[in-house]
Amino acid sequence: MKKLVIASNNPGKLREFQFLLQPLGIEVLTQAQLGIGEAEEPHPTFIENALAKARHVSRLSGLPALADDSGICVTALGGAPGVFSARYAGEPKSDGRNNEKLLREMQGIADRRAHYYCVLVLLRHADDPQPLIAEGEWHGEIAPQPDGDGGFGYDPLFWLPELGKTSAQLEREQKHAISHRGRALRALLEKLKVV
Ligand code: IMP
Repeated sequence: MKKLVIASNNPGKLREFQFLLQPLGIEVLTQAQLGIGEAEEPHPTFIENALAKARHVSRLSGLPALADDSGICVTALGGAPGVFSARYAGEPKSDGRNNEKLLREMQGIADRRAHYYCVLVLLRHADDPQPLIAEGEWHGEIAPQPDGDGGFGYDPLFWLPELGKTSAQLEREQKHAISHRGRALRALLEKLKVV
């Protein structure tokens, strides 16, 4: 496979995928470059939403499509924001307001455990009956206040006790080496046998 379309318009995720896939000689196109609009994400699970996004983009582009659905799940909040991570504080999507809402919800809660989850779905064509699926998790805690200006989304609040930093304070390479998306992508590449 020499070309694939990333089924996302999230600039943070696109940067991460291009960074990880281009060295493998895979030309990474984005759905925006092809004039393809965003798919609906109506489902209650990450995997269903990822499949819906990949199928939408593969059908409209006629190319293999890679979709990611990801989010942050907070133990004390029963897994919320979960599939609603991108629009936790409503529309229009705002990382700043999402982080403020999460901190409000966590006020007075001692159990700060949280994890990022990422599922990747690669469809070789829209009717591919056997999508390649890979998952990754990244465990940490919700910090009492934001710190760091790298990454995106909830990274300023995602505290990594063993590193003494938030994920927004990591170098890009360092984040990819341990993140949910990095892990899921390495698992996917393993399945693709490109590594
Ligand atoms: P999706 O585009 O529907 O998969 O939304 C994923 C959302 O989860 C993002 O908009 C972020 O809010 C959050 N998220 C997922 N991965 C990360 C990450 O690596 N750092 C920070 N936030 C993330």
